[in-house]
Amino acid sequence: MVEAMSWHHNERVKDGSLRHPADGESWKAFDSRHEDFSKEPHNVRLGLAIDGFNLFQTLSSTHSTWPIVLMGNNIDVFLQPLIEELKELWELGVETYDSKENKTFNMRACLLWIINNFPTYAMLSGWSTKGKLACPCCNDETSSIYLKHSHKTIYMDHRMFLPMNHPWRHNKRSFNGKTELRAPPQLLDRTTVFYILQGIDNSFGKKQRRSKNGILNWKKWSVFFDLPYWKFNMFRHNLNVMHIEKNIVDSIIGTLLDIFGKTKDHAAARFDLKDMGIRKNLQPRYMSDGKRTKLAKCVKKGAKLPDGSASNIARCVQQTEKKISCYKTHDAHFMLHYLLQVPIKSILPDHVAMALVRLCSFFRRICQKVISMDEVVNLEAEIVKTLCRLERIFPPSFFDIMVHLLIHLAIELRLGGPVQYRWMYPVERHMCTLKSYVRNRSHPEGSIAEGYLANECINFYSRYLNEDVQTRLNRVPRNNDEL
Ligand SMILES: [Zn+2]
Repeated sequence: MVEAMSWHHNERVKDGSLRHPADGESWKAFDSRHEDFSKEPHNVRLGLAIDGFNLFQTLSSTHSTWPIVLMGNNIDVFLQPLIEELKELWELGVETYDSKENKTFNMRACLLWIINNFPTYAMLSGWSTKGKLACPCCNDETSSIYLKHSHKTIYMDHRMFLPMNHPWRHNKRSFNGKTELRAPPQLLDRTTVFYILQGIDNSFGKKQRRSKNGILNWKKWSVFFDLPYWKFNMFRHNLNVMHIEKNIVDSIIGTLLDIFGKTKDHAAARFDLKDMGIRKNLQPRYMSDGKRTKLAKCVKKGAKLPDGSASNIARCVQQTEKKISCYKTHDAHFMLHYLLQVPIKSILPDHVAMALVRLCSFFRRICQKVISMDEVVNLEAEIVKTLCRLERIFPPSFFDIMVHLLIHLAIELRLGGPVQYRWMYPVERHMCTLKSYVRNRSHPEGSIAEGYLANECINFYSRYLNEDVQTRLNRVPRNNDEL
């Protein structure tokens, strides 16, 4: 592993494009602040992913197991042993053997960032991601409206992010009937959070839920600030693109196919529009039955894919009921990147199709392996325009917090580097493996611990077997077996 560990230092192409987290601003800022750490290329930067999963999907919808963590605000209590270990790795380091150089060295490690789903974001950062200030990036400048007929908070006003002289800022008719002269929200300075949080009374347990001791949406002192370097880290929490993609596909398909199809929803949306003063001819028109069937049919037809690229998406399409459901996160990723654009272009009017196709292309572009800095600048500007375009077309209820978060993805790209090092796919796959260890359903966590240990042992043994015995380490991969 020793070569892989210092790859980013010795072999990475350094041409200014983003191809590794080391190209992101956050990593560079960390290196220049902690020079004694960064001069040793063997030192490790860690990303921490935290998520929970349900072991009994078919039996109970409420059971969930967290590989590290149990619940709510008290998560910090369970994280303390981990924080202690991270502190030790930073301050003292551990003696490690370098098999290439045949000598030992002192390896230190730091925690660069945390990868989390949006609800977990609140647990780990201390910023509550609910209510009218839900966006952890815009903080107290989050712009939101409560729709009293649809009973939900929405986040529109993306014209705020346009350049100050952009003509759309003065276009009252196509937007919410107002001019928009506010500057884009300022991102919080990295150390400000540390000082804000120092004023918070941090008591754990059920009592805390009753007392409202937060400042704005800050609810607690995050345990990660116990790490000496954490307050200087530029970029602490990743927005999980995988999770956002799934939610966006849900919203698009839900809106286009009108899956719930309740007339009450339509009525509520219309009352909300009336309250907001949006003109009648801008109010959403719902697709006819024929078009909805055509959309479902088109997705079904297009869903014949090469082995391994996605699961069988066609099975998710219920053509007669005009429904697409039960697809998994990776199916959503694939649909958003490639599949949806075909029916969108052929069925929807041009201006609607254009906005949605641009949205899909935004996702395809932020997920590239190599991205130049020029492209990042373009992406930042383009997503603002795309969201403004969508505001002119889609009903306000479409703009939940997930849609708003898109505006911050390009900035995170600049800070953290390519998306594929900062999303949940590897973690989800690992959780799937853990889930398969559960044989005794009355002791799921024990089964996982036992299964994990057995797997480690087998792995360890297989390194010492002769080459003529087939093991997981020398086996030909399934897709190469005919070569
Ligand atoms: Zn925001």
